[in-house]
Amino acid sequence: MCIESNVEDVNRRIAQACERAGRSVAEVILVAATKTVPFQLVERAYGAGIRHFGENRVQEGKWKIEAIDITVRSNSTWHMLGHVQTNKVSNTLRLFDVVQSVDSVRLAKALDEHLDCDFPIFLEVNIAAELGKTGLSATQLPTVLDQMATFSHLQVQGLMTMGPVVGDPEEVRPFFRQARLLRDSLGLKQLSMGMTNDFEVAIEEGSTMVRIGRAIFGKRSY
Ligand SMILES: *Cc1c(COP(=O)(O)O)cnc(C)c1O
Repeated sequence: MCIESNVEDVNRRIAQACERAGRSVAEVILVAATKTVPFQLVERAYGAGIRHFGENRVQEGKWKIEAIDITVRSNSTWHMLGHVQTNKVSNTLRLFDVVQSVDSVRLAKALDEHLDCDFPIFLEVNIAAELGKTGLSATQLPTVLDQMATFSHLQVQGLMTMGPVVGDPEEVRPFFRQARLLRDSLGLKQLSMGMTNDFEVAIEEGSTMVRIGRAIFGKRSY
Protein backbone atom coordinates (compact mmCIF):
# COMPACT_ATOMS: atom_id res chain seq x y z
CA MET A 1 0.00 0.00 0.00
CA CYS A 2 1.31 3.41 -0.90
CA ILE A 3 -0.26 6.22 1.11
CA GLU A 4 1.51 8.89 -0.92
CA SER A 5 0.01 7.79 -4.24
CA ASN A 6 -3.37 7.14 -2.61
CA VAL A 7 -3.45 10.72 -1.32
CA GLU A 8 -2.45 11.98 -4.74
CA ASP A 9 -5.22 9.92 -6.31
CA VAL A 10 -7.86 11.15 -3.85
CA ASN A 11 -6.78 14.76 -4.40
CA ARG A 12 -7.05 14.28 -8.15
CA ARG A 13 -10.55 12.81 -7.82
CA ILE A 14 -11.57 15.70 -5.53
CA ALA A 15 -10.28 18.19 -8.11
CA GLN A 16 -12.18 16.44 -10.91
CA ALA A 17 -15.42 16.42 -8.91
CA CYS A 18 -14.95 20.12 -8.14
CA GLU A 19 -14.42 20.82 -11.80
CA ARG A 20 -17.59 18.94 -12.79
CA ALA A 21 -19.51 20.99 -10.23
CA GLY A 22 -17.88 24.30 -11.17
CA ARG A 23 -16.41 24.65 -7.71
CA SER A 24 -12.96 25.63 -6.48
CA VAL A 25 -10.85 22.90 -4.81
CA ALA A 26 -10.17 25.41 -2.06
CA GLU A 27 -13.79 24.91 -0.95
CA VAL A 28 -13.26 21.27 -0.04
CA ILE A 29 -11.22 20.08 2.95
CA LEU A 30 -9.91 16.53 2.99
CA VAL A 31 -10.08 14.86 6.41
CA ALA A 32 -8.24 11.54 6.66
CA ALA A 33 -10.32 9.12 8.76
CA THR A 34 -7.72 7.25 10.81
CA LYS A 35 -9.72 4.72 12.84
CA THR A 36 -7.72 1.46 13.15
CA VAL A 37 -4.73 3.16 11.45
CA PRO A 38 -1.48 3.13 13.48
CA PHE A 39 0.18 6.44 14.30
CA GLN A 40 3.14 5.76 11.98
CA LEU A 41 0.75 5.79 9.01
CA VAL A 42 -0.82 9.01 10.29
CA GLU A 43 2.64 10.54 10.10
CA ARG A 44 3.07 9.17 6.57
CA ALA A 45 -0.21 10.78 5.56
CA TYR A 46 1.00 14.05 7.07
CA GLY A 47 4.13 13.71 4.99
CA ALA A 48 1.90 13.32 1.94
CA GLY A 49 0.27 16.66 2.75
CA ILE A 50 -2.73 15.74 4.91
CA ARG A 51 -3.42 18.30 7.66
CA HIS A 52 -6.86 17.19 8.92
CA PHE A 53 -7.43 13.89 10.69
CA GLY A 54 -10.58 12.31 12.08
CA GLU A 55 -11.06 9.67 14.76
CA ASN A 56 -14.15 7.83 15.96
CA ARG A 57 -13.23 6.87 19.48
CA VAL A 58 -11.76 9.00 22.24
CA GLN A 59 -9.50 6.28 23.65
CA GLU A 60 -8.06 5.27 20.29
CA GLY A 61 -7.57 8.93 19.43
CA LYS A 62 -5.76 9.48 22.72
CA TRP A 63 -3.15 6.79 22.05
CA LYS A 64 -2.61 8.03 18.56
CA ILE A 65 -2.54 11.76 19.14
CA GLU A 66 -0.19 11.34 22.08
CA ALA A 67 2.10 9.09 20.04
CA ILE A 68 2.51 11.22 16.92
CA ASP A 69 5.38 13.58 16.42
CA ILE A 70 4.85 16.93 18.15
CA THR A 71 5.38 18.87 14.91
CA VAL A 72 2.73 16.75 13.19
CA ARG A 73 0.34 17.36 16.08
CA SER A 74 0.87 21.10 16.21
CA ASN A 75 0.37 21.50 12.47
CA SER A 76 -2.73 19.37 12.15
CA THR A 77 -6.39 19.61 13.09
CA TRP A 78 -8.07 16.65 14.77
CA HIS A 79 -11.77 16.05 14.27
CA MET A 80 -13.89 13.81 16.49
CA LEU A 81 -16.24 11.93 14.15
CA GLY A 82 -17.80 9.29 16.39
CA HIS A 83 -20.42 9.30 19.10
CA VAL A 84 -19.12 10.95 22.29
CA GLN A 85 -20.40 9.80 25.66
CA THR A 86 -20.89 12.62 28.13
CA ASN A 87 -18.37 11.06 30.54
CA LYS A 88 -15.69 11.36 27.82
CA VAL A 89 -16.24 15.04 27.21
CA SER A 90 -13.21 16.39 29.05
CA ASN A 91 -10.78 14.01 27.28
CA THR A 92 -12.44 14.80 23.96
CA LEU A 93 -11.88 18.51 24.44
CA ARG A 94 -8.32 18.02 25.61
CA LEU A 95 -7.40 15.95 22.53
CA PHE A 96 -9.52 17.21 19.65
CA ASP A 97 -9.84 20.55 17.88
CA VAL A 98 -13.35 20.03 16.46
CA VAL A 99 -16.27 17.76 17.36
CA GLN A 100 -18.25 16.91 14.21
CA SER A 101 -20.54 14.40 15.88
CA VAL A 102 -22.70 16.48 18.20
CA ASP A 103 -25.89 14.44 18.14
CA SER A 104 -27.82 15.73 21.16
CA VAL A 105 -28.44 18.90 23.12
CA ARG A 106 -27.32 16.98 26.19
CA LEU A 107 -23.88 16.41 24.68
CA ALA A 108 -23.67 20.03 23.53
CA LYS A 109 -24.46 21.20 27.05
CA ALA A 110 -21.80 18.92 28.56
CA LEU A 111 -19.21 20.19 26.05
CA ASP A 112 -20.10 23.81 26.71
CA GLU A 113 -19.83 23.36 30.47
CA HIS A 114 -16.27 22.07 30.10
CA LEU A 115 -15.10 24.92 27.88
CA ASP A 116 -13.68 28.30 28.69
CA CYS A 117 -13.12 29.52 25.14
CA ASP A 118 -14.79 29.20 21.75
CA PHE A 119 -14.84 25.71 20.27
CA PRO A 120 -16.03 24.60 16.80
CA ILE A 121 -18.65 21.88 16.47
CA PHE A 122 -20.83 20.35 13.77
CA LEU A 123 -24.33 19.02 14.29
CA GLU A 124 -24.64 15.44 13.09
CA VAL A 125 -27.80 14.84 11.10
CA ASN A 126 -29.31 11.47 10.27
CA ILE A 127 -30.34 12.66 6.84
CA ALA A 128 -31.98 9.45 5.62
CA ALA A 129 -33.77 8.97 8.98
CA GLU A 130 -32.24 5.52 9.31
CA LEU A 131 -33.24 3.53 12.35
CA GLY A 132 -30.50 2.76 14.83
CA LYS A 133 -28.20 5.43 13.43
CA THR A 134 -26.91 8.34 15.50
CA GLY A 135 -27.64 11.92 14.55
CA LEU A 136 -30.33 14.52 14.93
CA SER A 137 -33.35 14.41 12.68
CA ALA A 138 -33.70 17.11 10.03
CA THR A 139 -36.96 18.30 11.58
CA GLN A 140 -35.32 18.77 15.00
CA LEU A 141 -32.50 20.91 13.67
CA PRO A 142 -34.00 24.42 13.69
CA THR A 143 -34.97 24.04 17.36
CA VAL A 144 -31.62 22.50 18.27
CA LEU A 145 -29.78 25.31 16.54
CA ASP A 146 -31.74 27.86 18.57
CA GLN A 147 -30.72 26.02 21.72
CA MET A 148 -27.08 26.06 20.62
CA ALA A 149 -27.21 29.84 20.64
CA THR A 150 -27.74 29.74 24.41
CA PHE A 151 -24.35 28.06 24.96
CA SER A 152 -21.47 30.47 25.43
CA HIS A 153 -18.58 28.62 23.79
CA LEU A 154 -19.90 26.31 21.09
CA GLN A 155 -19.52 27.63 17.56
CA VAL A 156 -21.73 25.67 15.18
CA GLN A 157 -19.78 25.51 11.91
CA GLY A 158 -22.11 23.29 9.97
CA LEU A 159 -23.67 19.89 9.53
CA MET A 160 -22.09 16.46 9.36
CA THR A 161 -23.86 13.52 7.81
CA MET A 162 -23.31 10.02 6.56
CA GLY A 163 -25.16 8.78 3.51
CA PRO A 164 -26.89 5.43 3.76
CA VAL A 165 -24.76 2.46 2.72
CA VAL A 166 -25.84 1.53 -0.79
CA GLY A 167 -24.33 -0.24 -3.77
CA ASP A 168 -24.35 2.70 -6.14
CA PRO A 169 -23.24 6.14 -4.84
CA GLU A 170 -25.82 7.73 -7.16
CA GLU A 171 -28.47 6.47 -4.75
CA VAL A 172 -27.04 8.72 -2.03
CA ARG A 173 -27.27 11.85 -4.17
CA PRO A 174 -30.82 12.83 -3.12
CA PHE A 175 -29.82 12.61 0.56
CA PHE A 176 -26.72 14.73 0.02
CA ARG A 177 -28.82 17.26 -1.86
CA GLN A 178 -31.28 17.35 1.02
CA ALA A 179 -28.42 17.88 3.50
CA ARG A 180 -27.16 20.81 1.47
CA LEU A 181 -30.59 22.45 1.35
CA LEU A 182 -30.87 21.96 5.08
CA ARG A 183 -27.44 23.52 5.65
CA ASP A 184 -28.45 26.49 3.49
CA SER A 185 -31.80 26.96 5.23
CA LEU A 186 -30.04 27.05 8.60
CA GLY A 187 -27.50 29.59 7.33
CA LEU A 188 -24.50 27.42 8.19
CA LYS A 189 -21.18 27.37 6.37
CA GLN A 190 -19.77 23.86 6.46
CA LEU A 191 -21.16 20.60 5.18
CA SER A 192 -19.16 17.52 6.11
CA MET A 193 -20.27 14.65 3.90
CA GLY A 194 -18.70 12.09 1.60
CA MET A 195 -16.56 9.05 2.39
CA THR A 196 -14.56 6.61 0.25
CA ASN A 197 -17.62 5.23 -1.53
CA ASP A 198 -19.44 8.46 -2.23
CA PHE A 199 -17.17 11.50 -1.88
CA GLU A 200 -17.36 12.55 -5.50
CA VAL A 201 -21.15 12.67 -5.46
CA ALA A 202 -20.96 14.53 -2.12
CA ILE A 203 -18.69 17.19 -3.65
CA GLU A 204 -20.99 17.57 -6.65
CA GLU A 205 -23.81 18.17 -4.17
CA GLY A 206 -21.95 20.83 -2.18
CA SER A 207 -19.83 19.09 0.44
CA THR A 208 -17.16 21.31 1.98
CA MET A 209 -15.44 18.51 3.87
CA VAL A 210 -14.92 14.88 2.87
CA ARG A 211 -13.85 12.26 5.42
CA ILE A 212 -11.87 9.54 3.77
CA GLY A 213 -10.36 6.40 5.29
CA ARG A 214 -10.05 3.39 3.00
CA ALA A 215 -9.12 5.26 -0.18
CA ILE A 216 -6.07 6.58 1.69
CA PHE A 217 -5.09 3.81 4.10
CA GLY A 218 -6.48 0.74 2.36
CA LYS A 219 -9.05 -1.71 3.61
CA ARG A 220 -9.56 -1.80 7.37
CA SER A 221 -8.99 -5.13 9.05
CA TYR A 222 -11.52 -5.60 11.85
C1 LIG B 1 -14.87 5.50 8.97
C2 LIG B 1 -15.51 6.81 8.77
C3 LIG B 1 -15.25 7.59 7.64
C4 LIG B 1 -14.36 7.11 6.50
O1 LIG B 1 -14.91 5.98 5.89
P1 LIG B 1 -14.21 5.29 4.60
O2 LIG B 1 -15.30 4.50 4.03
O3 LIG B 1 -13.08 4.49 5.14
O4 LIG B 1 -13.75 6.38 3.74
C5 LIG B 1 -15.84 8.83 7.55
N1 LIG B 1 -16.68 9.30 8.51
C6 LIG B 1 -16.95 8.59 9.62
C7 LIG B 1 -17.86 9.17 10.64
C8 LIG B 1 -16.40 7.32 9.77
O5 LIG B 1 -16.71 6.60 10.84
